[in-house]
Amino acid sequence: MNTIAAISTPNAVGGIATIRISGEDAIAAASKIFIPAGNVKVTEMRGYTCAYGWIADGDRRLDDVVLTVFRAPHSYTGEDTVEITCHGGIFLSKQILSLLLRCGCEPAGAGEFTKRAFLNGKLSLSQAEAVMDVIRADGDAALRQANLAKQGKLHERMFSISERLVDMMSAFAYWLDDAEEMPPELERSCLLQELSALYAELRQMSADYQNGRILREGIRTVLLGRPNAGKSSVMNWLCGMQRSIVTDIAGTTRDVITEQVKIGDFTLLLSDTAGLRETENAIESIGISQAYLALDTADFVIYVVDAAVGMMQEDREILASCKERPVLVLWNKTDLTDSQPPELDVPVLTISALHADSYAPLELQIKEIFQERTFSDQPTIMNERQNTLILRAAERVSVCCNLLNEDAELDMIYAELEEAAHALREIDGDDVTDDVIEGVFSKFCVGK
Ligand code: GDP
Repeated sequence: MNTIAAISTPNAVGGIATIRISGEDAIAAASKIFIPAGNVKVTEMRGYTCAYGWIADGDRRLDDVVLTVFRAPHSYTGEDTVEITCHGGIFLSKQILSLLLRCGCEPAGAGEFTKRAFLNGKLSLSQAEAVMDVIRADGDAALRQANLAKQGKLHERMFSISERLVDMMSAFAYWLDDAEEMPPELERSCLLQELSALYAELRQMSADYQNGRILREGIRTVLLGRPNAGKSSVMNWLCGMQRSIVTDIAGTTRDVITEQVKIGDFTLLLSDTAGLRETENAIESIGISQAYLALDTADFVIYVVDAAVGMMQEDREILASCKERPVLVLWNKTDLTDSQPPELDVPVLTISALHADSYAPLELQIKEIFQERTFSDQPTIMNERQNTLILRAAERVSVCCNLLNEDAELDMIYAELEEAAHALREIDGDDVTDDVIEGVFSKFCVGK
């Protein structure tokens, strides 16, 4: 593989900056621009040793630096690697990088060092992703989770789940191969028990991820309700500013607007939507389809009802379609009417969005709904890619249970198990396409 180089520290002035080089010619390239202070030859330096000296462009010394050598395979990437730590000037570090490019190195792409670590078997895909999570962690719990994954604990957990699937598949394969007796682990009740336990574990992993995400990033909240119920006014109250356009004409909020509002210990990531209802107006219907999209990924629905109009059949239908996620109904415009909200199986808060001045009652409700969410102390998945795969595996396992209950052919069940196992392997980068790998590493920064 070609030799790559990049500045690994942020593009900003700082105390020091580090330029990293990795590949077959890393040590040779570094030796061409480095003048050691002592009696050292870069090409003869052992791994994990460093030398002090100068970076020189011909006769001109640019800076005094520390150069560290890592020998393959004992480096981050698994290749020969050199790190040059210089004074932290933007111009200076760029000059050193351009000297290296002149010596034959190529500029590294986003996440290319970590990608090489993955391709050289130093890290699994989930460990590689965790590197980015460690960098981005903005709190103790997030850092703890990221480190568990980086140390390979998530990989181990996924591996042990996959093994259980593989065990079942080998029993199937044995039996499908014309064995006279069915192995005991293929007894239907035995299989159902094992598959149900697997299903529960996979769903729990996804729930742990959702909880972690809610605590780390905020609660993805959609504001829904029929036109004119007061969604934009509620949004304005929450954001404390005139963000969406408030009018008396039904159906004026056409975009999904996202704002962050801190309420007590929680952050709401708010999408104000055009309201879910049938429409013939093209622009409005774009907003409405976005509302459905936002609902799809929402953790929480705030449903606004105009108390002066009351609860309509349409409101009940929309509420019914939200039932998989926590819902809070805001019985709004109570300054205009004394009407009381009907009995509902979700919490209801009476307010007047135009006159509300404190979040206290809302904070109490949100706390009630979300207080049970805590960070898991188990290694858990950390991003949407992994969550999608976990849910795909869970879905396949649940199909297996249905097939078993319907006495379906065993080879159909086998095929589902195979799909589930495949989805789980993909989490750690086995059987993944180049596109998946590109997708993961394109989110990294250059130099990592
Ligand atoms: P949306 O279509 O659901 O976004 O509703 P808007 O927020 O645009 O509100 C529709 C109309 O109801 C506007 O004229 C608001 O000023 C009014 N409105 C909203 N909330 C209240 C409230 O609590 N009290 C009163 N009196 N009017 C309100």
